[in-house]
Amino acid sequence: MHLIKKRLIQCQEMNLWRKREMRLGDELCFRGNDYLGLAHHPQIIVAFKEALEAYGVGSKGSALLGGYHPSHQALEEALALFMGFPKALVFSTGYMANLAVITTLAKTLNLTEIFSDRLNHASIYDGILLGHLKLQRFKHKDYQHLNTLLTQSSSSAPKLCYSEGVFSVDGDVADLPEMLRIIRAHSGMVVLDDAHGFGVLGENGRGTLEHHHLSADDVPLVMGTFGKALGTFGAFVVGTEDLIQLLIQYARSYIFTTALPPALAASTLVSLKVMQAENWRREYLKKIIKHFRYQANRLGIPLLPSSTPIQLIFTYDPHTTVQCYTILKQKGCWVGALRPPTVPEGLCRLRINLTASHCLSDINRLLEALTCIKKFI
Ligand SMILES: *Cc1c(COP(=O)(O)O)cnc(C)c1O
Repeated sequence: MHLIKKRLIQCQEMNLWRKREMRLGDELCFRGNDYLGLAHHPQIIVAFKEALEAYGVGSKGSALLGGYHPSHQALEEALALFMGFPKALVFSTGYMANLAVITTLAKTLNLTEIFSDRLNHASIYDGILLGHLKLQRFKHKDYQHLNTLLTQSSSSAPKLCYSEGVFSVDGDVADLPEMLRIIRAHSGMVVLDDAHGFGVLGENGRGTLEHHHLSADDVPLVMGTFGKALGTFGAFVVGTEDLIQLLIQYARSYIFTTALPPALAASTLVSLKVMQAENWRREYLKKIIKHFRYQANRLGIPLLPSSTPIQLIFTYDPHTTVQCYTILKQKGCWVGALRPPTVPEGLCRLRINLTASHCLSDINRLLEALTCIKKFI
């Protein structure tokens, strides 16, 4: 018990304490992932309610033991069609989807190692641990470093490279064409976690692949989530017929868990349609990102380069990070404060997520609040 207490006190003293704060007042929220503002969309809410009445609250079982429902199937068909892949598989969460893909590929391809961008999401790291793979971690978006690691590798197994499409802690986009060029030279393949790109990037919201004018022929598996741009909950993987079958047969985080509630699948399908029909949301988002960056630059607020809704300001140490976060909150702007282990030591940052629910005056209020922390950054 003494050790547990000590550990908690240590956490507090280092300013690394995590709190589950709720929005109680009328702060503007700049920390959500509801990029297109669909979480409160009336049409999606109605679809959810109607599906709840019709199908009940829970899915009542795992997908392989009665939990698979026509609404899952309809959503999978729509996702595959939209993404331009042969098949899709719906998961309960993106965390589980990443575990599934990595452990299943590790097992069936007899992998001993995986090539992973340093800034990849925690669920990718956990999948690597669970798959007993040696982590070959290349510097963020440094594909020459990836090339070096690939060249040095002595394993005869196929080379698997895992990367986010849009990096959640940097807001930048993976240079997929360059990554593919390198990995192809070593006859390997790339798997993409497009949690933050899906719905946001590309002319039609297909994500990082569309952004780079690439397709299913270039990347065999793409993972995406519903809890971000689609404003609902859950996740999916699209891929070839065989790869999706493989996941159904072997992925423990698919097999041994309760399936996504059918009402969520039904409302996500409506959200997918709304996202396609309301292209203006993506266009509008682009406009406010541009406005925010232009004005921030004019006001001398140092932003990391990013053309996505994820905008970052380095605050370096945890103390300054918490200080700036608190000032911004007092000014009515609620942003993310990223500290280790989410980001590397000494590279703490504030994360500002812009969404289609923000209006220009919200952005201007944020800019005004940011000028108050200028002296600390
Ligand atoms: C959010 C996220 C996940 C996990 O998705 P959940 O559905 O929230 O479990 C995985 N990868 C990345 C990059 C994410 O941002």
